[in-house]
Amino acid sequence: MTSLSAKIQDVFDEPACDKNRGKDAKARKEGCSKPLTPGAAAGGCAFDGAKIVLQPITDVAHLVHAPLACEGNSWDNRGAASSGPTLWRTSFTTDLTELDVVMGQGERKLFKAIREIKEAYAPPAIFVYSTCVTALIGDDIEAVCKRAGEKFGLAVVPVNAPGLAGSKNLGNKLAAEALLEHVIGTVEPDDAGPYDINILGEFNLSGEFWLVKPLLDRLGIRVRACIPGDARYLDVASAHRARAAMVVCSTALINLARKMEERWDIPFFEGSFYGITDTSEALRNIAELLVKKGADPEILARTEALIAEQEAIAWKKLEAYRRRLQGKRVLLNTGGVKSWSVVHALMEIGIEIVGTSVKKSTLEDKERIKQILKDDNHMFEQMAARDLYAMLSEHKADIMLSGGRTQFIALKAKTPWLDINQERQHPYAGYDGMVELVRQIDLAIHNPIWSQVREPAPWDCQPAVKDEPPSTTSGTASLHALKKFAGTMADDFGEC
Ligand code: SF4
Repeated sequence: MTSLSAKIQDVFDEPACDKNRGKDAKARKEGCSKPLTPGAAAGGCAFDGAKIVLQPITDVAHLVHAPLACEGNSWDNRGAASSGPTLWRTSFTTDLTELDVVMGQGERKLFKAIREIKEAYAPPAIFVYSTCVTALIGDDIEAVCKRAGEKFGLAVVPVNAPGLAGSKNLGNKLAAEALLEHVIGTVEPDDAGPYDINILGEFNLSGEFWLVKPLLDRLGIRVRACIPGDARYLDVASAHRARAAMVVCSTALINLARKMEERWDIPFFEGSFYGITDTSEALRNIAELLVKKGADPEILARTEALIAEQEAIAWKKLEAYRRRLQGKRVLLNTGGVKSWSVVHALMEIGIEIVGTSVKKSTLEDKERIKQILKDDNHMFEQMAARDLYAMLSEHKADIMLSGGRTQFIALKAKTPWLDINQERQHPYAGYDGMVELVRQIDLAIHNPIWSQVREPAPWDCQPAVKDEPPSTTSGTASLHALKKFAGTMADDFGEC
C-alpha cells in the first residue's frame, strides 16, 4: 500500500490539472477525493474507474482479483463498442471466498486463474485488478503478475486501484499509471509515420468514434492508439511513437497525456468531437500539431477543405430541425467536457440552454461555458433531485439531457429526457453524431406520448355522481359501496 499511497499523491499533484493548480500546497496534499468506505461505495469506486478506462481494450482478458460482487458491479455497465475481439466482455474473477481469505489462498488462486486464462484464450495480455478485499489482506498482485508473466511468456499487467483508494476519477488516473508503467512503450512499431496520432479519453460509446475515424482516414491521419475505445493491446503498447495526441475527456486521462508529452515528446491538446464547430476545431488542431512535429504543411489546406465540405453537409441536414427546435429549452445535467461541448453544439441550431451542470467540469471547462453562454447564471454545481423536479414540473425546460440516474426525475415531471451519458444508445460524435443528437432531441420533444401523459387520467374526468351515503351495515357489499361513494365525493373536488 505504500507505493499505492505514493502513486495517489503523485496523481493528485497533477500539474496539467487546473483544479490542482488553483490549490495551495496543503490542499494539494489532501488530494481531490475522500477515501470511500470499503463495500459501501456502490459503484463509482477507484476499481470501477480503473476498469472503465481499461476494459474497452478489447483483445485483453480483464481479471478481477476479488470476491464475486466487485466484478458483478462493474461488468459491462457502459456502452463501449468493439469492431473485432470480444474477449474484453468475458467476465473473469478469482471469486475469493471467506475460506480463501482465512487460509491465505488469494495469491495462489490468482496465479492459477492467470494460467487458466492463458491456456483457454491465449490473449496478448491479461490485466489484473486489485480490489478492497485483496488490498486489505495484502495480496501482492504486482509480484504474482511478474512471476506469471515470466512463466507464461505474456504481458500480465497489475492494476493497483482498489476501491478503497478513492473515487472513480482517481481510478481513471491510476489505470493510466498502470498503462504508463507496464504497457506503453513496450512494443516498437515498425511502421511509425509522421501522421500518427493518439486519441486519449475516447471510449467509443455506442461506436461513436467510428463517426470520426473516417474523417481522419480521409486526411491520411492514422490513429495509432485510441485509448481506450476499441483499442488493441499492441496499439496501446506502441502508442509512444505517435506524433501528437488529442485528449477528449480531460478529467480522466490528463495525467497520461502530460506524462506522454514529458517522456516521448508527444504534444497534446484538449478537444471535443461533440458539435460541428468543435469537431472542425479538433481536426484543425490535430493537423496543426502534426505540422509542428514535421508533417507536410499541405495537410492544413486539405483539412480546411474537408471541414468546409463536412460542415456544409451537416448544416444542410440540420436545417430541417432548426425550424422545429428553434427556441426549445434544454436543461443539461451532465458535466465534464460535455458541459460545454454539447452546450455549444445545441446553441448552434438555436436551442436555448436554461441550465448546465458543472459538477465534474474543470476550471477550463467552466471558463468555456461562461464564454459560450455569455454569463454564468445558467451554470450550477449540483442540483438536488427535488429542485430538478421542481424546475421540470414548472415547465422551465422542454427536455432534460442527462445520465440514466436522473431519468426518472424527468419522467415523473412528464418531461422528455435523453440519455447522453455512458449508457446512451446513439452515437453523438462528429458531424453525423451532431445530426443524430438533434434528431433524437426532436424525436423526444415531439413524441406524442407527452401530450397524452400530461392529460388528466380518465378516472379523474368522470362526471360526478351524487349518491346517497350507503348504510353502514357490515359485510363486503357495504365496503364496496362505501369505496364507491368516497370516489364520487373525490370527483366532486377533482380538476375535471
Ligand atoms: S473494489 Fe471495494 S468499493 Fe469497489 S466494488 Fe469492490 S468492494 Fe466495492
